[in-house]
Amino acid sequence: MSETMKNYIEEAENALLHTYNRYQIVLEKGDGVYLYDTDGKKYLDFMAGIAVFAFGYNNKAYNDVLKEQIDKLIHTSNYFYNVPAIEAAKKLTKASGMDRVFFTNSGAEAVEGALKAAIKYAYLKDGAHDHEIIAMEHSFHGRTMGALSVTGNPKYRDPFEPLAGIVKFAKFNDFASVEELVNEKTCAIIMETVQGEGGIYPAEAEFLQKVRTLCDKMDILLILDEIQSGMGRTGTMFAWQDYGVKPDIMTSAKALTCGVPGGAFLMTEHVAQNSLCAGDHGTTYGGNPLAAAATSKVFDLYEELDILNNVKEVGPYLAEKLEELAAEFECIESSRGKGLMQGLVFNKPVGDIIARAMDKGLILINAGTNIIRFVPALTITKQNVDEMIAILKECI
Ligand SMILES: *Cc1c(COP(=O)(O)O)cnc(C)c1O
Repeated sequence: MSETMKNYIEEAENALLHTYNRYQIVLEKGDGVYLYDTDGKKYLDFMAGIAVFAFGYNNKAYNDVLKEQIDKLIHTSNYFYNVPAIEAAKKLTKASGMDRVFFTNSGAEAVEGALKAAIKYAYLKDGAHDHEIIAMEHSFHGRTMGALSVTGNPKYRDPFEPLAGIVKFAKFNDFASVEELVNEKTCAIIMETVQGEGGIYPAEAEFLQKVRTLCDKMDILLILDEIQSGMGRTGTMFAWQDYGVKPDIMTSAKALTCGVPGGAFLMTEHVAQNSLCAGDHGTTYGGNPLAAAATSKVFDLYEELDILNNVKEVGPYLAEKLEELAAEFECIESSRGKGLMQGLVFNKPVGDIIARAMDKGLILINAGTNIIRFVPALTITKQNVDEMIAILKECI
C-alpha cells in the first residue's frame, strides 16, 4: 500500500465514526465490473456496492442522464410534481404490478414507510394501538429504529431496545411458527423474499403461499422486502413474481437507483385507500428529480441491456460453479441462492478468505460469519464468473 493510501485511511479513521470495520482500500473509480483503488490496483467486483450497481460502474447512458438532470433541476421538495418522478413512478408500478409508490432515500426508510402503512391500515379498522407485526429470524430490514425492530438479528438489536412497535419473530420457511404467533392483533407479516444479509436463504414457495393465504384469511398485510432480492437479481424483476403470490406492500432500494441514494415502498390500491393519507408521511429529498431520473433510466436500461435474460443465463452458471466448489473443498458445506444472489456456506468464518481475495484483486462480501455472498453486477458474464472462481479457489 502506498503512503498516500495509508494517509487517506488514517485521516478517515480520525474523522469518521467507527461503525464499520472497513477493508483497507480507498476506491477511486469503477468501470464495468472492475474497481480501481487510489494506487491504481484493479479489482474484479462481485459485491457491486452491496447489490446496487446492476449495470456495473460508469455506464455512460446512466451517467449522461444524471449529468443532464443535474444541469436542469436536482431538487424541488414534494410540494411540487416533477417529471422524472412521474416517469419513475409509472415504470416502477408497471414493473411490479403494484398500484402506488412512495419514494424514499434509502432501504431502511422504505421499510419505515411500509410499517407505518400497515399500522395505519389496522388502526383505521379498530382504532387500537397494540397491533403486532410478525417478522422473521435472521432477517435484515435496515438500521433505523423501525426497520431494526423487524430485523431478526439480536446482535444488531439488543443495545437499542426497546425498539419501535410490538414485533414477534417466526422462523423463516417454517409456516407453523408463523401460525403460532398470529392473532387478531397481527397487522402485518414482513419478510425478505430471499434473505440477504442473514445468509442467502430463498423463501420456499409453499411457505410463502401459505403465509399469503393466512394473511388473506385474517386481513393481515404481507410486506415483502425486495430491497436486495428485487430489481432482477433473482431472474424476475421482483423475486416474489416467481412465487405465485403478490404482497400488499413491497419495498425496493439498492439497484432501484443504481448508485444515487433512493428507495421506494409500494402498495395495492386497496391498502393505499385504507392507510396513509395526506399528512401521514413525508420526506424532503425522497423522489427528487435526480434520484427519480436515475430510477427512470434504470428501468430503460434493464430493457435495453436485457438484464433479466442475462441473470437467467449467468445466474445458473454461477450456481453450478459454486456447487462444484462445494463438492471440491471440505471446508465448504453447501451453496444456495437464486439467480445472481448466491451464497457459499463454509464450516468456518470466511473473513480470511475474503481478505486474501482482496489481496489478489477480487472483491467479495460475507453474509453472516460463515457465508460468502455473491451479488455482482447483473451484466456479469460467464467469463467474469470463471475469473472469479479461479481467484477464489486460490484463496480457499
Ligand atoms: C440493504 C437492505 C436494507 C436497508 O437498506 P439501506 O438502504 O441500507 O437502508 C433493507 N432490507 C434489505 C433486505 C436490505 O438488503
